[in-house]
Amino acid sequence: MMQTSPSINTQWAIGLDIGGTKMSSALVNPEGQMNGFQHIATPTESELFLNAIETLVKEHQRVEPQHSFLGLGIATAGIVDPIEGKILGATGNLPAVRGISSLKQILESRLGIPVMVENDANAAAYGEARGGAAKGFRNVLMITLGTGVGTGIIIDGKILHGAHFSAGEGGHIFISQAKERLCTCGKWDCWETYASGTGLGKTAHRMLKATPNADTSQLMVGKTSVEEVTTHDVIAAFRSGDPLAEKMLDAWHVHVATGLASLLNVLDPDITVVGGGMAQFVDFPTLLRLTQERSMVAGGDGLNLVPATLGNQAGIVGAAFLARDQAGA
Ligand SMILES: [Zn+2]
Repeated sequence: MMQTSPSINTQWAIGLDIGGTKMSSALVNPEGQMNGFQHIATPTESELFLNAIETLVKEHQRVEPQHSFLGLGIATAGIVDPIEGKILGATGNLPAVRGISSLKQILESRLGIPVMVENDANAAAYGEARGGAAKGFRNVLMITLGTGVGTGIIIDGKILHGAHFSAGEGGHIFISQAKERLCTCGKWDCWETYASGTGLGKTAHRMLKATPNADTSQLMVGKTSVEEVTTHDVIAAFRSGDPLAEKMLDAWHVHVATGLASLLNVLDPDITVVGGGMAQFVDFPTLLRLTQERSMVAGGDGLNLVPATLGNQAGIVGAAFLARDQAGA
């Protein structure tokens, strides 16, 4: 039998998550385990931005020089063309990429390793599918409940990109005709205006206005108007057992279930992963029941709804797996 060195068998890929304020990277092995996690502030100028990525990669290569690197996978905000490795229409919070035509091409020539670029929500879903809560499943829906609602869709083991690389914007499906809540996308009553943390805050304001003697609620302590009540206040009151805050969380669960049920009717995934900062406030048996009541495909016992396991590192892990796929490893 031919001898191969342990360094080649290890086959690390580098995962890099580019956010508006910071960039984080780590080495990821074939099992999805990370090593050498590091982060750096995201520069706003293109050349400094490219230099910063080079610095992160060089540091991984310095610390683990004995290992072979399969490539660099990048998870970034914005709409991404993963074939060309381009970030299309630079996002407002990532000014550094405005002057860059193909991030993939530029970095491959600078770093001398294969580079893969993917949208961060897609990469996170792929990370959970390959190395997290949905490991082993081929059809995966991931919903990320945070300040907004993000979705990533994996069909038969592959990320669904769509004709314009804009698929998987599940946070912007309409769940009402009421024109009650204006979304950041410019349309009314998108799912995320209800199911996000921001949406929970809006729900709280409406419920406080509709509640007689709301000014006696714990939520109104130190406030002069209901608009001053934040999502954080609602969560704090909920944790201390405030009945009105509990009703607000109940309503939020219905809102999450309403959009989720529609997505399940379209996709019928093997498993749905729930991540993001708001996921910790999800009561999974309740969300399961509410979603089953609203969905055709989930009417039986086939709905598999689980919390994400990779947290903020899902994008890094997913991006590294994409680099691994590209290398044919
Ligand atoms: Zn929207």
